[in-house]
Amino acid sequence: MSRPASASGSVSNGKPSVPRAPKGTDDVLPPASERWRTLLRAFEDLAGRFGYGLVMTPLFELTELFARGVGEETEVVEKQMYTFEDKAGRSLTLRPEATASVVRAYLAAGLQGVFKGYYTGPMFRYEQPQSGRRRQFHQVGVEYLAETSPDADVEVIELGHRLLSDVGITDARVRLNSIGDAADRAGYRDTLAAFLTERLDALSEDARRRVATNPLRVLDSKADSGVVAGAPAPLDHLGPAADAHFEAVRRGLERRGIPFEITPTLVRGLDYYNRTVFEYVSASWDAAQDALGGGGRYDPLAGILGGPEVPGVGLAMGVDRIVAAMPELPAAGLDVFVAVADPGRRPEALGLLASLRQTGISADADLGGRSLKAQFRLAGRRGARVVAVVGEEWAQGEVTVKDMAGGDEQRVRIEEVPGWATHR
Ligand code: AMP
Repeated sequence: MSRPASASGSVSNGKPSVPRAPKGTDDVLPPASERWRTLLRAFEDLAGRFGYGLVMTPLFELTELFARGVGEETEVVEKQMYTFEDKAGRSLTLRPEATASVVRAYLAAGLQGVFKGYYTGPMFRYEQPQSGRRRQFHQVGVEYLAETSPDADVEVIELGHRLLSDVGITDARVRLNSIGDAADRAGYRDTLAAFLTERLDALSEDARRRVATNPLRVLDSKADSGVVAGAPAPLDHLGPAADAHFEAVRRGLERRGIPFEITPTLVRGLDYYNRTVFEYVSASWDAAQDALGGGGRYDPLAGILGGPEVPGVGLAMGVDRIVAAMPELPAAGLDVFVAVADPGRRPEALGLLASLRQTGISADADLGGRSLKAQFRLAGRRGARVVAVVGEEWAQGEVTVKDMAGGDEQRVRIEEVPGWATHR
């Protein structure tokens, strides 16, 4: 095996330097990770309330799953996959998205009928890294399988919109489009290809190549937005069934009070979508007009994967971007910091710490035998609302509690500490 040139870090003064994280990846540490926790909790809570159950699938899959499920002609499959051979020569790929995996899992388990699943986790795409465009990034998402009703589309769109407002992004709007069914697209494809062929000189190299293979992909090419603005839209080529579906989705969103704008050029990067496609935008995340999340209906996907017809609709929200767009949170601090004034009472202090934690209170202490002054400094840094000082008053069944914000200090019975801490 060839030795990775820089993976082990460079050597200076005979001491190896700490390896860097790979390009386009991030470490998320406290306190910044509090924002992630807030978002993930909000999502899990919401998904549960909407009736979705947790789905966990492998972070890597057979490459074939994405080649078929996402589409050979897509940017993701053509350029962005982390594909490698394992020791047995299988071609594996780190998942660039989760929908194909969830549908594969549903089919593999032999499930039938309505299925509502949610997932959270990292995805991998070989991108040109920038803010909000990472090589490892996180998504939270839901998939609503075996349901053709337009109300399922509305529910999924509502969930994403609700998630954004629950974490404080209250101005999110939905961009909405319908790309019709495969049969509608066949006719549209030819019309679009003819339009683009007349303008080949104005198109980017990628777009020129796609005119022949997959002209729809040109619609979401940023480099070609000038030409695309005047192109015929899929929306004008919907068959009666797709048209009625789209109408029902629009009415459902209006009834739910979810703001949306019809965006005729929205097609989304992955090939398996039909009918409804959507994404969320907000003024709080404006980087190059990128979306905070998106999704759509993908009725053909299960069939493309070799399974029976299982219609579906889902969404994926970009956690990295949402976290960056979220408003400031109130600092999450500890409820109680247990300080030790009398080193002889340390075992009792640790007992108090354990019992506070057991009653659901967030509590911590210094385990390193630092001075009382240093313990108070630590409590301040950890954002503790209350410090409970364990000293000689323990003999009378009491501790001294100090309210860190107001500064008042009093002796209370040990068993009253939890109440005192949570009523601050
Ligand atoms: P997609 O699976 O491409 O529809 O992406 C859904 C959402 O995931 C997007 O709207 C973004 O918020 C997020 N996303 C996609 N790719 C990346 C990336 N490379 N880095 C960060 N977020 C991403």
